[in-house]
Amino acid sequence: MSSLEKKLRDALQLQKEIFGDDLFVLKEEKIFESEIKTTEKIGKNLNDSLFDEPFQKAESLEELDSLINTCTKCELSRTRTKFVFGIGNPHARAMLIGEAPGADEDKQGEPFVGKAGKLLNDILKAIDLTRDDVFIANILKCRPPGNRDPLPSEMETCMPYLYKQIELINPKIILCLGRIAANGLLNKKLSLSALRGNIYEFNGIKVVVTYHPAALLRNPGWKKGCWEDVKKFKKLYDELN
Ligand code: SF4
Repeated sequence: MSSLEKKLRDALQLQKEIFGDDLFVLKEEKIFESEIKTTEKIGKNLNDSLFDEPFQKAESLEELDSLINTCTKCELSRTRTKFVFGIGNPHARAMLIGEAPGADEDKQGEPFVGKAGKLLNDILKAIDLTRDDVFIANILKCRPPGNRDPLPSEMETCMPYLYKQIELINPKIILCLGRIAANGLLNKKLSLSALRGNIYEFNGIKVVVTYHPAALLRNPGWKKGCWEDVKKFKKLYDELN
């Protein structure tokens, strides 16, 4: 077996392990027939006073992190263990955006660790990407107690930090992980099934929506749909200049 055949066999085996046996009967999606929806540009909804905040002048992710990691703008600062800025390639062409840190993330100060993080790594590997190819961040930088859903007020308060991260990284494509992340970024109030399957455009950046890995751990039957979404994401990623 040649090295290319071995690589292909290993990749197919990994995809089968993660996404299940019926993976290979999925029909190819004609993704360019999908509706492309446009949302407001980054910053359009920000209160004018936010543009005067010191963090808006950050010229790098390190500088931004140092300016916001002691944030006390919402109640979550009282209960967090660690502020979770995000991690990955500062020049990534793709960003992955989740909802908020969970218990493991709160302890370690890093997004998507623990079982959900392992599954996310496997999903990336199945489409021939690694964490070093992307930047991963959450809508909220601090953990909501008991992993409750973020409050609208918390999302509104924390969102400018994510907007600034997006501005500095300047990705070409974003994969939103879960309903809350997608609705937060796209300023919508839709179900995940209504969000999935569309290609949105956020300030010129393509946005694809799929399940949160923690939801896939609770509902393995959803992995097939996730595979459809990440194939679409990877096809768009590969077509980027
Ligand atoms: S969740 Fe966001 S706004 Fe609230 S304290 Fe943490 S960093 Fe600040």
